[in-house]
Amino acid sequence: MAQYIDIRTLNFLLNDIHGLNQLLQLPRFQEHDLESLTMFLDSVKDFSDRELYPCFKEMDEKPAYFEDGKIIVHPQIGTAMKQGGELGLMRLPLTHEEGGLQIPLLIHTAAYAIMEAANNHVPGYLGLTYGAAELILYFGNEELKNKYAPKMLDGEWAGTMCLTEPQAGSSLSDITTSAVPAGDGSFRMKGQKIFISGGDHEYVDNLIHLVLARIEGAPAGTKGISLFVVPKKRLNADNSLSPNDVTTAGDFQKMGQRGYCTSHLIFGEKDDCHGWLVGEAHKGLKYMFQMMNGARIAVGRGGAAIALAAYHASHAYAQERPQGRRVQDSGKKDVTQEPTLIINHPDVRRMLLFQKAVGEGSLSLVFQAARYYDLSVASVDEKDRKKYYLLLELLTPIVKTYPTEMGTQSVSNGVQVLGGYGYCSEYILQQYYRDIRIFPIYEGTTGIQSIDLLGRKMMMENGTASRLLAQEINETIQAALTHDDFKKYAKTLGANLKLTADVMDFLGGFAKNGEFERYLSDATIFMEFLGTIVVGWQWLKMAVEAKNALLAGKTDYPESFYESKIHTMKFYFKYEMPKTTSLAETLMSEEVLTVVEEKEGAWLND
Ligand SMILES: Cc1cc2nc3c(=O)[nH]c(=O)nc-3n(C[C@H](O)[C@H](O)[C@H](O)COP(=O)(O)OP(=O)(O)OC[C@H]3O[C@@H](n4cnc5c(N)ncnc54)[C@H](O)[C@@H]3O)c2cc1C
Repeated sequence: MAQYIDIRTLNFLLNDIHGLNQLLQLPRFQEHDLESLTMFLDSVKDFSDRELYPCFKEMDEKPAYFEDGKIIVHPQIGTAMKQGGELGLMRLPLTHEEGGLQIPLLIHTAAYAIMEAANNHVPGYLGLTYGAAELILYFGNEELKNKYAPKMLDGEWAGTMCLTEPQAGSSLSDITTSAVPAGDGSFRMKGQKIFISGGDHEYVDNLIHLVLARIEGAPAGTKGISLFVVPKKRLNADNSLSPNDVTTAGDFQKMGQRGYCTSHLIFGEKDDCHGWLVGEAHKGLKYMFQMMNGARIAVGRGGAAIALAAYHASHAYAQERPQGRRVQDSGKKDVTQEPTLIINHPDVRRMLLFQKAVGEGSLSLVFQAARYYDLSVASVDEKDRKKYYLLLELLTPIVKTYPTEMGTQSVSNGVQVLGGYGYCSEYILQQYYRDIRIFPIYEGTTGIQSIDLLGRKMMMENGTASRLLAQEINETIQAALTHDDFKKYAKTLGANLKLTADVMDFLGGFAKNGEFERYLSDATIFMEFLGTIVVGWQWLKMAVEAKNALLAGKTDYPESFYESKIHTMKFYFKYEMPKTTSLAETLMSEEVLTVVEEKEGAWLND
């Protein structure tokens, strides 16, 4: 079987970079040890090898489709839900009281990254079920918790998140799905939701939709949105199930992730769709957003996983494909000489190193966020919990964006490594390329994440979160400065922190003047700028750890493994970090070329 993830790198990141063992000292996680968690991840890898990877290509070739009011998905989805439930994949980070296993989110993230690298069409069915159950467990009343959560955590029932409507995508304040009290404690639901991932299939007994809707008479905008549990089938007093007037109207046919169905659902066509309020009325969006951190980390994780799988595929190809001769060989034009393998051409090596740098750097970033999450819920000291919560909040839009945007670019490089074969369906690279393209779009587009980062997170609590992040980065800089040959990288990272402060000073001027549209107009450029720096930080961290291990003669991994981490850090600092200078120049330019003026649209029409 082709390699789709390097478990050594995964373990290095978990243990040596993100301090899994240290997390396990916290009371919340104390019952687990490294050995049992390693065995658990081994079983997830085994499950992925057996059940997920072998049908990855087939799911693309035989996509989910709509027929006679139903969505037909690949039968392996049924196996995945069942075995996923048995493996506990829907209950890992939840507490025992919630029915969970109280395992760090860091391990949950690693487990899902393995599955996503094997077959990114499947883990969403499990992950959404976990996310929906988590929402019910956090905010629902006892009745909702008891009725729905246990079967969802077992994988017998699946869950979805229903936010998007035809007219309300990025702007959830425009949601119109309505909820009218039915007089029996439930609400009559009416409306349409589109693009609902995992929205319907036959391999579970019931689907539990978490639906954002407006109670009749609720205030306009986001303050009037409530959250409802709307099952596809109602659970009767005798535990039988009967239809709940949820109609599947279609399945969107997509360029990628074709095994992961994307449904159009209609609630209440016959005025008989019942929903149950989760928590308090009008607080639905707040509840949903509390869960968004997890969902956004999950999307970044998926981007990182696909980028890594694509790296392994193009790396394997480059080691087998002979083409041309090395420039340095005098026989470049001498066709009697054996051709070299393409991996020996510097340009191919550059593309592969770019893929490796983005893939592994992204995975480390995603793990960083998972660690902050764990510390934000499990730290003993309340001050620490607050600190890590702020760090997580700041990092979340970057974690959603860098692995997905740069992951897309890195997979494109992977296609390029294969030349013409990269474009052909016989090879897997084109599938990764089509699959990853959705990741910068769903769960909040890059544009929306960037506005969140610059408009809210950078300024959060008077800039406390950004100061905390700078402190964390500074710790790595100090560690790198202890090695003479790392000083220049440490200084580059330090200079980038200073540059970030300069950019914020410049842009902050617009915010202070009330020119908010101007302030946010280049938010996506700012995201690229800060994302590049933050992943540079991850690489320096990895390189320092690798250097220390080499100096100490550690043998957890071969020398070449540690050296490869240092080499990739150097690659990142030579090829990626300099981009921040030009991005900063754009960000601090006085010219305004994108904000709508009176001559609206003029520059685009002519
Ligand atoms: C395969 C797939 C699966 C999905 N799964 C789910 C799901 O399970 N549940 C669910 O509820 N939704 C789901 N979605 C919906 C997804 O979250 C939305 O598509 C996404 O949020 C964008 O909304 P939109 O498509 O309406 O685009 P629009 O909101 O119309 O955006 C179009 C463009 O305008 C930009 N834009 C919009 N508003 C602004 C602004 N204020 N400032 C700057 N730029 C802006 C966007 O960045 C984007 O580039 C899914 C979508 C797809 C394609």
